[in-house]
Amino acid sequence: MKSLYFDNAASTRIAPEVLDAMMPFMTDCYANASALHCQAQRAKAAVEEARETVAELLGADDSSEIIFTSGATEGNNQVLHTFDGKLLVSAIEHPSIANPAAESGRSDEIPVLGDGTLNYDAYATLIRQGADLVSVMLVNNEIGSVQDIDRIGGIAESAGARFHSDITQGVGKEPLNLSGRPIDYATLSGHKIHAPKGVGALWARAGAPLRRFMIGGTHEHMRRSGTLNVPGIVGLGVAARLLIERGEAEAATMRAMRNRIAASVVSQIQDVKINGQELNAPHILSMSFYRTEGESVIINLDSQGICCTAGSACSSGMNLKSRVLTAIGLSDEWLRGTIRVSLSRYTSEEDVDELVRALVSAVGMVRSLAGYATG
Ligand code: PMP
Repeated sequence: MKSLYFDNAASTRIAPEVLDAMMPFMTDCYANASALHCQAQRAKAAVEEARETVAELLGADDSSEIIFTSGATEGNNQVLHTFDGKLLVSAIEHPSIANPAAESGRSDEIPVLGDGTLNYDAYATLIRQGADLVSVMLVNNEIGSVQDIDRIGGIAESAGARFHSDITQGVGKEPLNLSGRPIDYATLSGHKIHAPKGVGALWARAGAPLRRFMIGGTHEHMRRSGTLNVPGIVGLGVAARLLIERGEAEAATMRAMRNRIAASVVSQIQDVKINGQELNAPHILSMSFYRTEGESVIINLDSQGICCTAGSACSSGMNLKSRVLTAIGLSDEWLRGTIRVSLSRYTSEEDVDELVRALVSAVGMVRSLAGYATG
């Protein structure tokens, strides 16, 4: 059976162009980029080219502001680790922000509204009490809501706080031009943009404080120790180049497909609601089916060859109630029946048709087995 992949917010396929560019750095040129010989110099040059490309994608002032990491979890942790004072984080952050913030014992949560956007009244009240760092993600990984990071960062700046945005789900999907915006730090992960797992980037504006987190050698100008993951970094650079060239057009295609799935589902299935905003991120669609077991829908879809998820990959399998869905105020009857489908540049119109057909059948089957009476 053909498997159709609708879990791109969890991880994406490596682009063939990315894999091709990475291969020589695992076969012919595997040197440690810190050495002096010619192989090392070739590796180092490739890393610096990737740094330039990632800086260009983010619209950073200078490539020296880019630090390569193992992924967004590490970058997020390093930014929080830099601050000893008060932290303000949104109620829908990824666990790699939410958990270290909560464990610090110095953090407050900024609530969100029902569409997943920040509650600015609550933010104004909290920031008046003082904060060292505000961290709010650009695009939420579970529902795809998009934040106005200029407005949020501007408020942080006027209150004398630094501002970080986890842009992992927004790269290639939302406009980025970090240099001209009131943002001090941004973090991302390669495997969400068709580069491999285990590589990411942290952008720290020149002059913004950054405390060491991985401590060892002098790599990355003493800001992140550890032998550079040259193939991964080269892959991230090529993935960034592909997004510079075609990200905007691909995002428009994904948005049209996402909207088509949403419209078809709403017209063909009763008692369903689409979560997030009207103008959500183009690749994420979160839907809640009233009084329907979401996990059972996922299992049924899987038996039809469709991969998607009930919440986010980071909390699935743990039977935890989604913090994000709770934060947007979903009652249990809706929350339990929530599933997320997420698209990529490799999703086709035929895949979308197949998804809608399978979804209508899966929800119908799960509901009929549970004796569901439509309302
Ligand atoms: N932030 C967001 C918004 C994410 O979606 C993810 C991945 N689910 C991460 C951070 C963490 O990325 P990684 O697991 O690659 O470190």
